[in-house]
Amino acid sequence: ADEARIALDNLADRATSLFNPTLRLGVAGLSRAGKTVFITALVHNLLHGGRLPLFEAQAAGRIAGTRLAEQPDLAVPRFQYEDHVRLLVDERLWPNSTRAISEIRLTIDYESASAFSRLLSPGRLSLDIVDYPGEWLLDLPLIEKDFATFSREALDRARLPQRSAIAAPFLALVAELDLAAPADEARAQALFRAFAAYLQACRADRTALSTLPPGRFLMPGDLEGSPALTFAPLPVEDGRAYPRDSLAALFTNRYEGYKSVVVKPFFREHFARLDRQILLVDALQAINAGPAALQDLETALTEIFLCFRPGRASWLGSLVSRRIDRILVAATKADHLHRESHARLEAIVRRLVEEAAARAKFSGATVEMLALAAVRATREASVSDKGERLPVIVGTPIAGETIAGERFDGLRETAIFPGDLPADPGRLLAGLPAEERGINFVRFRPPRLERSADGLALSLPHIRLDRALQFLVGDRLA
Ligand code: GDP
Repeated sequence: ADEARIALDNLADRATSLFNPTLRLGVAGLSRAGKTVFITALVHNLLHGGRLPLFEAQAAGRIAGTRLAEQPDLAVPRFQYEDHVRLLVDERLWPNSTRAISEIRLTIDYESASAFSRLLSPGRLSLDIVDYPGEWLLDLPLIEKDFATFSREALDRARLPQRSAIAAPFLALVAELDLAAPADEARAQALFRAFAAYLQACRADRTALSTLPPGRFLMPGDLEGSPALTFAPLPVEDGRAYPRDSLAALFTNRYEGYKSVVVKPFFREHFARLDRQILLVDALQAINAGPAALQDLETALTEIFLCFRPGRASWLGSLVSRRIDRILVAATKADHLHRESHARLEAIVRRLVEEAAARAKFSGATVEMLALAAVRATREASVSDKGERLPVIVGTPIAGETIAGERFDGLRETAIFPGDLPADPGRLLAGLPAEERGINFVRFRPPRLERSADGLALSLPHIRLDRALQFLVGDRLA
């Protein structure tokens, strides 16, 4: 039934698209990767004629106008663009991050580059941008796992050496359970809380990102507190029938509920209807956290590519109905590095993505990688140090940030030597000593607006946002 509905939805979308050409762009990334900032900057630059030389339609002057329009999905929260822009531009503060799904529609009126297309098409594209937590994407593999399998994997991971200390309170609760005894809600909630706290601590520790399902335990959305979100893995025996009123039976039921009322509807209603996808990754943070975090990022990417792999003979296969044809994996916050290191950042992401795609035997969509800053909070300069020229970045560090013992007040511009990345990405993956991989990472305040190309409007500065736009949207405005 799911498969039929997805096929019908896709048909309906295509039919609408005949009269009103539409492109649905998914923006995903793990928490704090930069989704909110990316969408805000993208919309702002399109609305205000930003400096986008590599976005061909705009650079060639073929875009007659871009405006916000009513989104097609009436039940999906709207992306709070106006609030985010007000904070970012007027107050030079970073907006609040993504907590759940949201959507916004832009209508772009353009003139096609070819005379033939100008005759055929109305020259109007609706761009639907769908923002959702990457944590939810990583739930997809659960669909094919039963409670016993999910539990076994989750408990094995909790007992890994690097995690067992964090997981100790949860594992202690599990150890004293009688799985066949009648369930009571107080114990169910205590188990859930201990398990969720362990997942969140792993995340805060920054060494593990991907291998922490269920995703809603990290990013609940609007379902927090519901039974489908209140369970934990248990050491159930495969194939054994537990009494109907037991904890084992209760959690099996809730886990199945999680899959059917949370995970499947999300994929069916949102994910399966995307045409293009950008995945934002905070590779700099992973680099700073060390090789285990990079390895984990690669695992996360592998799982994501498995989601995007078309034509699998399963529920998943029918879901990803060969619709997504372009995927961009972008390392965000490149403005924390000097330009000389951007290519190196890109090389690291390229390496991770290529390995992940190979492991997932991925094919079908075109995949691109790049390093970008949706909002460039720094500019580049150089200082001379003992006769040597050092590339530095200049920005206003956020109040309270510190570097080498110096504490910033959030008012003054400061030059910082960000450090550089090794030319060979293999060295980072193999594990450089901490002092060699360190990037001096300070959070900067958002920048002031800069003059756009024609000098008339003010727009948000960025790094390679135009290249991202060209890859994701450009061909539809050709
Ligand atoms: P989300 O959880 O994926 O929605 O992440 P956000 O978009 O809220 O970004 C999280 C934080 O990362 C922001 O508050 C900023 O501090 C930082 N950030 C995101 N994008 C950029 C960028 O392009 N440049 C800089 N300097 N910082 C960024």
